[in-house]
Amino acid sequence: MEKQPLERYAAPARPSLIGLSREQLAAALGDVGVPERQRRMRVQQIWQWLYVRGSRDFEAMTTLSKDLRAALAGRFTLERPEVAAEQVSVDGTRKWLIRLPGELQNSPHEVECVYIPDTDRGTLCISSQVGCTLNCTFCHTGTQRLVRNLTAGEIAGQVVLARDRLEDWQRATPAVGEPEKRLVSNIVMMGMGEPLYNFEAVRDGINVIADGEGLSISKRRITLSTSGVVPNIARAGAEIGSMLAVSLHAVTDELRNELVPLNRKYPLRELLDACRNYPGLSNARRITFEYVMLKGVNDSLADAKALLRLLKGIPAKINLIPFNPWPGTKYECSDWDQIEKFSEIIFDAGYASPVRTPRGRDILAACGQLKSATEKLSARERLALRAMAMTD
Ligand code: SAH
Ligand code: SF4
Repeated sequence: MEKQPLERYAAPARPSLIGLSREQLAAALGDVGVPERQRRMRVQQIWQWLYVRGSRDFEAMTTLSKDLRAALAGRFTLERPEVAAEQVSVDGTRKWLIRLPGELQNSPHEVECVYIPDTDRGTLCISSQVGCTLNCTFCHTGTQRLVRNLTAGEIAGQVVLARDRLEDWQRATPAVGEPEKRLVSNIVMMGMGEPLYNFEAVRDGINVIADGEGLSISKRRITLSTSGVVPNIARAGAEIGSMLAVSLHAVTDELRNELVPLNRKYPLRELLDACRNYPGLSNARRITFEYVMLKGVNDSLADAKALLRLLKGIPAKINLIPFNPWPGTKYECSDWDQIEKFSEIIFDAGYASPVRTPRGRDILAACGQLKSATEKLSARERLALRAMAMTD
């Protein structure tokens, strides 16, 4: 059921410092001869340049001696993942096609990263793997092999490159008064791949992203989406502590076995137990349950009611995701009226948050299909969708 990666990450001769942990950065400084007693301070300085100011050049790091800058430049780079293409939509959404090196020279891979601005936040949807270990039948990525895992550097690097592209770094002379607001304020790990099957890199990448003296996006604003890798949900609770989204999509094991074949290994009961035990849950800290709306498959009103019964007692948000079709799929998106009726049942059960912060477009960023999905929706549909997909 789970595919093995075809390739491993092959580090270049001059590796990038982007995305290293503080410990790894200290070791890198050791490699260029920085004495141990100085490393902490130097890490602190470089961390600021990398993750507060977004420096792309060692020369800019004026708090370091010229010699140290030259030594670092001789051994390392500040390269971010390469942007192969950029699409900007009318509503400000930006999608970047990111090229990552393959194990063999001249056979790079591609993943997507999407920025979705909203009134009160800017959400970046990032990828964790090239391809996916799993085979969810409605997911285009599921039809692909798992090519390789992203490194922690490539995971955090997506945030760095988004800040580059959006000019979202702190300026040399920040404005006085109110602290500057960053455009990228939230992260969802809902791009390509199953993050809980690339556990260490995802954990380490998130730790870089959440570091309060650097990129500074708190774990409360980072959501990791999983198809339900039960043992790693507990591990994520203990070792990562981000917010959790679970791709539920069905209310019976029979149907979920078909849609999310991993369910055969970790059935609904075990999955929901793992959710109940996720640390720190409260009304202010809920698990998001994602539910893709598939016409005639999982979208009956009886399904909506069963969904409510299933989630009873778990502090939950529910995100209904209109299915985004791809060439060759056997599924269709539910009719709009059906999605509305389904969502009404969910609202009436009290899942609507009193503060209706619009979100919604970001859920369409799922598996990098944002653009085609938003283009297909009418203005009315988009509004309804935004009202429907709420967050705290
Ligand atoms: N592998 C993780 C995260 C990436 S997928 C997971 O499965 O949760 C992010 C979300 O997009 C998941 O909820 C997934 O089920 C959903 N998704 C995948 N393909 C989709 C499609 N064609 N239309 C709508 N949502 C889709
Ligand atoms: Fe993988 Fe998620 Fe797609 Fe399933 S939905 S195949 S877990 S990316």
